[in-house]
Amino acid sequence: MGNDVAMQPRQVVLTGDRPTGRLHLGHYVGSLKNRIDLQERHDCFIMIADTQALSDNFDNPCKVTESIVGVCRDYLAVGIDPTKSTIFIQSMVPELFELTSYYLNLISVARLERNPTVKAELQQKSFADSITAGFLCYPVSQASDITAFKATLVPVGEDQLPLIEIANEIARRFNRIYNRNTLVEAQAALGKTQRLVGIDGKTKACKSLGNAIFLSDSDDVVKQKINGMYTDPNHIKMSDPGTVEGNVVFSYLDAFLEDRDELEDLKARYRKGGLGDTTVKSILADTLHTLLSPIRERMALIKDNDVWDILTSGSAIARGVAANTLSEVRDAIGFGYDKIRK
Ligand code: ATP
Ligand code: MG
Repeated sequence: MGNDVAMQPRQVVLTGDRPTGRLHLGHYVGSLKNRIDLQERHDCFIMIADTQALSDNFDNPCKVTESIVGVCRDYLAVGIDPTKSTIFIQSMVPELFELTSYYLNLISVARLERNPTVKAELQQKSFADSITAGFLCYPVSQASDITAFKATLVPVGEDQLPLIEIANEIARRFNRIYNRNTLVEAQAALGKTQRLVGIDGKTKACKSLGNAIFLSDSDDVVKQKINGMYTDPNHIKMSDPGTVEGNVVFSYLDAFLEDRDELEDLKARYRKGGLGDTTVKSILADTLHTLLSPIRERMALIKDNDVWDILTSGSAIARGVAANTLSEVRDAIGFGYDKIRK
């Protein structure tokens, strides 16, 4: 899918991650791989969403601020190239928050509460009774992020689809009410694996659930995590026939084993009986070693100062683009007072 998207006519791409920890394999297959393809032919903006991360970490801002360098280091190590993609920090582009003020009028609270992604996150974060306005409204801020860059493509995992829908609703409403074509709608670019399950078998590998294999995990940690993965509870003896569906090790092999013939062969042997969990797990460990060891090597060479240089200059570029859109938005509403006086 990544390659198909990369072949489309030149587009503006906006995507990002919350700095709530290091990036994991879910990010890699859900979004990072697509970004690496897309940056070759498109204008890519990659945002480290510190303000959004604050919405459920406002009482622990250090977690957010201290995660920024790590997220950017992960980007660079997987192959995001700062000469091709603009990497920036959300809070360094304050224009985004003015846009949010205007967009908040364009969506109802009921619509925000119906959002399945927010609903799932609320359950997971268990602050059901004390949901803050900031958390409920983060999809509106995400609409600002997307529209500020006039993004047409957003490489994301499946969990983000309802949020892109909200952004598009806001864009359409804005254009209709203020009678302009200022804002553009965006389309999701889903990765080949749209949702990587957690190592605990939960529906999504996630930083906050601590159920992910991180790109920065050492071989030993990766092996430990693989050893703890659920397989098929009825596959007790090696000779027992096993089930591949819902088997976490096979979900990961599906996502990462490039040799598809080998994968099909493994599945057939596992289903028939005679292939042990230990063997399948060690194949997964080898596969992930091949993927992650060059990434980890590159990570080790990246210096904090270089990361900050990239983020500072990227944020200045992003700010210029967002300021242009903000100016158009203000004009559309009739707030272009500076122009009236001239
Ligand atoms: P947090 O727990 O802080 O929400 P997260 O692990 O969900 O962290 P995000 O920063 O929210 O990660 O997500 C960044 C991007 O990565 C989004 O586009 C999201 O869809 C994608 N993504 C995250 N986890 C997965 C996953 N398990 N499978 C596929 N895509 C994923
Ligand atoms: Mg998330």
